[in-house]
Amino acid sequence: MKKVILLLLICFSSLCLTGCTSKEPKDLLSKIKLKNKIVIGIKNDSKPFGYIENGELKGFDVDIAKSVSRRLLGDTTGELIEFIYVTPESRIIDLNSSKVDIIIATMSVNANRSHVVDFTAPYFVAGQALLVPDGSKVNSMESLNTRRVGIILGTTGERTIRQLAPNATIIGKKTYDDTFNLLKESKVDAILADDSILYGFIMDKKGYKILPARYTKEYYAIALRKGKETESLKEELNKHLDYMQQSGRLNRIKEKWIPNLHIN
Ligand code: GLU
Repeated sequence: MKKVILLLLICFSSLCLTGCTSKEPKDLLSKIKLKNKIVIGIKNDSKPFGYIENGELKGFDVDIAKSVSRRLLGDTTGELIEFIYVTPESRIIDLNSSKVDIIIATMSVNANRSHVVDFTAPYFVAGQALLVPDGSKVNSMESLNTRRVGIILGTTGERTIRQLAPNATIIGKKTYDDTFNLLKESKVDAILADDSILYGFIMDKKGYKILPARYTKEYYAIALRKGKETESLKEELNKHLDYMQQSGRLNRIKEKWIPNLHIN
């Protein structure tokens, strides 16, 4: 009996020791390196930033993600990235519940979001604009006060329309595809969204135009969880974005996906 108790004690203390001396790192950068994998929240409906063509995920944000994975993990093909598709409504929850490590998803920095997530330096600047069918009578934000506007729920556009055309009838959808369908089916008179993504829509579809006015500046940045856990990762990401800027890599990605930077 004594022997059994002794054996149990030895097992228990060795278990405890293993637990106590566990080398599980606390900071996210080390964790990513240890598991040799990074989980990135990305869009799949926002051409030319994150979209699917012939079964392949591609776009500006996808190239940024691959460049980041190469820097952090020496990943030359992007195979060490697990992409999780996010929407503007879901992405902050996905990040703060640790479903993803970082978000690279046309996400603008703004004061409200900065209360709940952290951002790197920006890697792209877009501006909100209106998309209308050719021949539309909509010619300004004010003219929307008596009309119906489509927006994507959870985006900065949702807030802008409430401020600049408070009497407009707003119809919100979760995805860009659903919002574009509203316009195609004449259920809205215009869509307010980032010019960068509206541009992706008119690349493929004839009969629509982006009006010249820009209502905001949208600084796209990589989002991280707040706190000590992500400090070293944020520093590394900022160094990498700076390198991408200095080396011309960021410009090459822009030219590849948005060859006509003057969107009108
Ligand atoms: N950049 C805008 C935002 O962060 C809209 C783009 C989007 O995320 O869909 O809300």
